[in-house]
Amino acid sequence: MKNLGLTFFLVGLGLFLSLFFMSDYQLSNEDFKSIVKQEHQESLLPEIANILEKPFSNAISFANAIDHAVNTVNEQMRATQQWDQVIYDNYTASLTRAATKGIITEHPTTLFLLIFGLVIGGGVIFSLAGKNSPPGIKNNGIFFNALNNRGWIGILVGTILIAFYILLYFYDAHIMNWIILVDPLQKWINPSATSSQWFLYGFLYTIAVTVMGVRFIMKYRHSKYQIVRTISVMFFQLALAFLLPEILVRLNQPYFDFKNMWPLDYDFFDAWHINMLTSAGGIGIFMFAWGITLFMVGVPVLVYFFGKRWYCSWVCGCGGLAETAGDPFRQLSDKSLRAWKIERYLIHGVLVFAIVMTGAVLYNFISSTNTIFGLDTYTYLRKPYGFMIGSIFSGVVGTGFYPLMGNRVWCRFGCPLAAYLGFIQRFKSRFRITTNGGQCISCGNCSTYCEMGIDVRWYAQRGQNIIRSSCVGCGVCSSVCPRGVLNLENRDEEGRFVKNSFIE
Ligand code: SF4
Ligand code: SF4
Repeated sequence: MKNLGLTFFLVGLGLFLSLFFMSDYQLSNEDFKSIVKQEHQESLLPEIANILEKPFSNAISFANAIDHAVNTVNEQMRATQQWDQVIYDNYTASLTRAATKGIITEHPTTLFLLIFGLVIGGGVIFSLAGKNSPPGIKNNGIFFNALNNRGWIGILVGTILIAFYILLYFYDAHIMNWIILVDPLQKWINPSATSSQWFLYGFLYTIAVTVMGVRFIMKYRHSKYQIVRTISVMFFQLALAFLLPEILVRLNQPYFDFKNMWPLDYDFFDAWHINMLTSAGGIGIFMFAWGITLFMVGVPVLVYFFGKRWYCSWVCGCGGLAETAGDPFRQLSDKSLRAWKIERYLIHGVLVFAIVMTGAVLYNFISSTNTIFGLDTYTYLRKPYGFMIGSIFSGVVGTGFYPLMGNRVWCRFGCPLAAYLGFIQRFKSRFRITTNGGQCISCGNCSTYCEMGIDVRWYAQRGQNIIRSSCVGCGVCSSVCPRGVLNLENRDEEGRFVKNSFIE
């Protein structure tokens, strides 16, 4: 059963990847005129004339030819100081989409059902087959495994993930076949919408969380805590992060993810976002107020009672992906003191960066300016943050490096919201992991499988409570402990910072 599921999954994945190469591209004059704005057609036409009606065998060469034509026009306009003629619109993706010809444009629904049927069906069969083996971790040569310990399969998976994120963020025209592939689903949800790279990403993300969530539940089925919190992250990803925002758009309301909040949602206070929400009437105002209330009131109150786990391990999409798709790699987190030190500098540095950037953006919004202390806010703060943190750190490194550095790279080293939650958890919360040190046999399972790089055994051997700001309360240390030493608790604050009394 396991091999059957794996075969279905790999065939589906192979078809998905090979679709990348399966189209021809030919741009017609009519499509050019219907997509490019009238004021740009005249200047662009001489440069694009040799592309029109010419067949290209791959998206990369076609998109590069479009980019080259637009860049050439812009250089000419800048050289002759015709600033109003410079083209800022990005036509590459829409022209590539119009030029795409082949099996994907002829049979998108069939391919969608075939590919994702194989991927999802195979993944679920593979996951359910886990019920044939005992629950929990096996410790059966995990550090000799080519996938789980940075072997060739792990490096291959990491390389594919990194390449995917780079294409997704910076070269959406190159993955047009995949974007068109999910168009049937986009049309089922909202007939007037056309799929984008973000819809594709949301769909793949949701598949990863739900299919691998089934695997996680089967693996940790001896723990009620793990079952319930995994169902929770699957629900939040599917319902709140993927479906609800699309349904809102269908109802002519703003796209809004109710569980995402500043500073993770770093463009929440951007002028375009505030304007979009406040101009949408009552529901938009409610969304804006909800977003502010969530991080100003919801976070402190809920972290006080439950620790940061209420968000990082039960609600968050990044955490949801890490816990499910990233579970095979959780043992790769670095447990050294050096990594802990880097973690503290980096994550708090990102939080400070997010606060400064947001302060500047808000100042610009309120004062109707674009600069702060004479510097252009977008160029010097907003754009670098979006590129370095929003794209490279959270996406390319945060997920692409799962098979190399463990599944919580982003949550541990980069997420500004995790830093904020962790700060409250460390100093003002009822949450702690208590350790019944007398029972510890020093097997090290807890430290090995802590995705946040916490040396749990060190605390357990001393009977010391774990109140580390980075602990996301996933509870896996407790689930893999053979002696029942570790317990996640929300008790009174009193006694939180001292060793357990029986050791004293
Ligand atoms: S200490 Fe335990 S609960 Fe906390 S992050 Fe590590 S494994 Fe999860
Ligand atoms: S606390 Fe449990 S898992 Fe960790 S070293 Fe001790 S016995 Fe092993």
